[in-house]
Amino acid sequence: MNNLNNIDEILAKSELNFDDMLTLINLTKQSDLEKLYSAAYATKTKYVGKKAYYRGLIEFSNICVKDCYYCGIRKSSAQERYSMAKDEILAMAMWAYKNNYGSVTIQSGERQDAAYCEFVADIISEINQATNGNLAMTICLGEQSEEVYQKWFDNGATRYLLRMETTNPSLYKKIHPNTPLHSFDNRKNCLLTLRKIGYQIGTGVMIGLPEQTPEDMVNDILFFKENDVDMIGMGPYVVHKDTPMGQTADDSTFAQVARFNFGLKMIAITRLLLKDVNIAATTALQALHPLGRELGLQAGANILMPIITLQEYRHKYQLYDNKPCIDDTPEHCKSCLTNRVESVGDKVGFAEKGDPPHFLKRLVA
Ligand code: SAH
Ligand code: SF4
Repeated sequence: MNNLNNIDEILAKSELNFDDMLTLINLTKQSDLEKLYSAAYATKTKYVGKKAYYRGLIEFSNICVKDCYYCGIRKSSAQERYSMAKDEILAMAMWAYKNNYGSVTIQSGERQDAAYCEFVADIISEINQATNGNLAMTICLGEQSEEVYQKWFDNGATRYLLRMETTNPSLYKKIHPNTPLHSFDNRKNCLLTLRKIGYQIGTGVMIGLPEQTPEDMVNDILFFKENDVDMIGMGPYVVHKDTPMGQTADDSTFAQVARFNFGLKMIAITRLLLKDVNIAATTALQALHPLGRELGLQAGANILMPIITLQEYRHKYQLYDNKPCIDDTPEHCKSCLTNRVESVGDKVGFAEKGDPPHFLKRLVA
């Protein structure tokens, strides 16, 4: 059987196995890739529709107690620090609400101290009250205790995004310092705790990390399936020069293109396997390709995370080099992204929370 027929056969299957996914993740020929992306787009159309939902991204502080080797705001970086005031954060959330975004994602560096956890709890209830519970909140604030997760949930947050970064424990060890703060098992337990509390759970990985193999990537997708996640936020690893990993990682154009293509293939294969979940076309895709997010939508993603962080803070929240949109305003990001969505034939789900059918099915099960 020639390769072409083999790919057609794989794409016609209703359930992919490990070897099928490995074949797909290794595709390089443009004509094969187009087949993969259009099959994933057809699956997206069938299971979640041709609609993209916005999650306005509020990056409210770059203070972080962790030292992940890849990240530009890690504790040891020389980056000047900021933390926004409550009224600034509330104003951004209200901007999203008034502009008919169905939800916001609240993100920062990681902190576990009581003052911070209380601050976040207050913000969540204030946003919830000011929007009558009509603005869905995704929290992306790393590892916390069960009590803290529960309190944030009780105050009105319903979704949590905690990326595993990689689901291979030995690779996880290589990209983090060897301290209890950076434990693979703890991160995984946090996901299980979030699920137990009742959050809609999201996870994801970085794609194209040094020493990450295609087999690792397939295992990442199988991890999403096994853990029954509702949303996936994953994107290519993008070098930040001023980090331990960034100093040695290959940042040639060739390496960047490979990471970008793996990013699109991961979206497409995840869509084919998981079908009815939400999948984000992340900003990191656009850092590597000017049309990155549009291509992400065409490869099966249905979520976009427009940055709504106030302009004055954007350049201080650079997890990686070449972060797009740092000179833009929220207004500009909204119209720019809406044009991008329409250019691929999708519509924006304005004023809709955009819960994935996967989550809704679990609620009635
Ligand atoms: N501190 C929280 C949330 C902020 S970081 C946490 O770590 O969960 C959000 C995400 O940024 C991380 O999960 C990581 O996947 C991503 N990230 C950090 N550095 C990156 C880089 N160099 N390239 C691509 N993604 C990166
Ligand atoms: Fe901190 Fe998150 Fe960056 Fe790790 S990835 S250093 S936890 S902001």
